[in-house]
Amino acid sequence: MSDKHYLEWPFFEARHATLEKELDAWAAQHVAHAHGDDVDAACRQLVRQLGEGGWLRHAVGNTIDTRAICLIRETLARHNGLADFAFAMQGLGSGAISLFGSAENRDAYLPRVARGDAIAAFALSEPQAGSDVAAMQCAAVRDGDDYVLNGEKTWISNGGIADFYVVFARTGEQPGARGISAFIVDAGTPGFGIAERINVIAPHPLARLTFNNCRIPASKRLGEAGQGFKVAMATLDVFRTSVAAAALGFARRALDEAMQRATQRQMFGQVLADFQLTQAKLAEMATGIDTSALLTYRAAWQRDQGRKVTKEAAMAKMHATETAQQVIDAALQMFGGLGVVSGQPVESLYREIRALRIYEGATEVQQLIIARELLKEA
Ligand SMILES: Cc1cc2nc3c(=O)[nH]c(=O)nc-3n(C[C@H](O)[C@H](O)[C@H](O)COP(=O)(O)OP(=O)(O)OC[C@H]3O[C@@H](n4cnc5c(N)ncnc54)[C@H](O)[C@@H]3O)c2cc1C
Repeated sequence: MSDKHYLEWPFFEARHATLEKELDAWAAQHVAHAHGDDVDAACRQLVRQLGEGGWLRHAVGNTIDTRAICLIRETLARHNGLADFAFAMQGLGSGAISLFGSAENRDAYLPRVARGDAIAAFALSEPQAGSDVAAMQCAAVRDGDDYVLNGEKTWISNGGIADFYVVFARTGEQPGARGISAFIVDAGTPGFGIAERINVIAPHPLARLTFNNCRIPASKRLGEAGQGFKVAMATLDVFRTSVAAAALGFARRALDEAMQRATQRQMFGQVLADFQLTQAKLAEMATGIDTSALLTYRAAWQRDQGRKVTKEAAMAKMHATETAQQVIDAALQMFGGLGVVSGQPVESLYREIRALRIYEGATEVQQLIIARELLKEA
């Protein structure tokens, strides 16, 4: 990208522009757009590289600079969706330990996550409890100094390659959301298993997990018993705005690709960009991207000020993911037949963006959050 005027916006400090510049150069050298067929191996390698590059340090610890993680996700997404995924999951998977872990657990896990030596995962969703998280059935029963876990989790990113999982299970202190606790489960723990690997339109390591009398020391509980819902929401709260940033990165890449194509493709005696219909599309795409960026960095800046961002993060996530889908679709259209050829950047962006409108709260859930906050304010 040539014009990065947005880095001069008042949301940012000088260190943010430096971070973006250094990461952009690093990513251009280390993470190519395409990766091979072995997504597990590619992901493991990306985690290692991101650790060695020092980038994962930004995603770990209890003083996360939201603008920095957003800029990192935006930049990585522009270069390679799987690199963004690897970065985001190290943060999301270890976030509950950063925020609620005992000193012992923090020391045991966080340095390894930050170095890229341990792969993290966040296991909240279940077959019958996705948007309705509080309907979860996976249960943990206290037995002396341990908890015994039974049940399953699904759609778990890094499932199958993670070294540990932060798992949310019903402990029953109170009904619904007030009877859930969070635990660290190491991958080799007896009773823990990978029931199924799940293939999705943009390949990522993803799995359904089972827990069969899986015994976890109570010392690996994160936060108080019964506070797991709070632990999950606080973790998601840190990272929700960064989903918007990833969508923004995908959309920026799509606009770059579209600009190149439109200014080079000859047809009817001129180039595609000479047609006013194309110009109208480019104008819509660029405006959509700027509104997404404004909403994303407003939310990130506001969070870094220590202010509540429930409404602002939901607006950013909803708008940036929905807009990116439209921008990418418009870019693909400009490529004609080439746009649907496997491995073309616009083709993989088209697949890559789709899940972002669903996970960490589907668009409809974000709409409800925004409306609820508006009605509270009224
Ligand atoms: C690629 C991918 C990676 C994921 N990674 C993880 C992970 O690492 N860890 C984890 O715990 N989970 C993960 N998830 C799960 C994800 O969070 C859930 O898919 C999501 O919460 C939606 O739950 P669901 O799939 O059960 O859909 P449902 O809850 O059945 O929702 C289906 C649809 O209903 C609509 N909807 C929802 N609520 C409302 C409403 N109130 N009113 C109207 N319509 C509504 C939405 O359009 C939604 O898409 C991942 C999912 C995907 C696709």
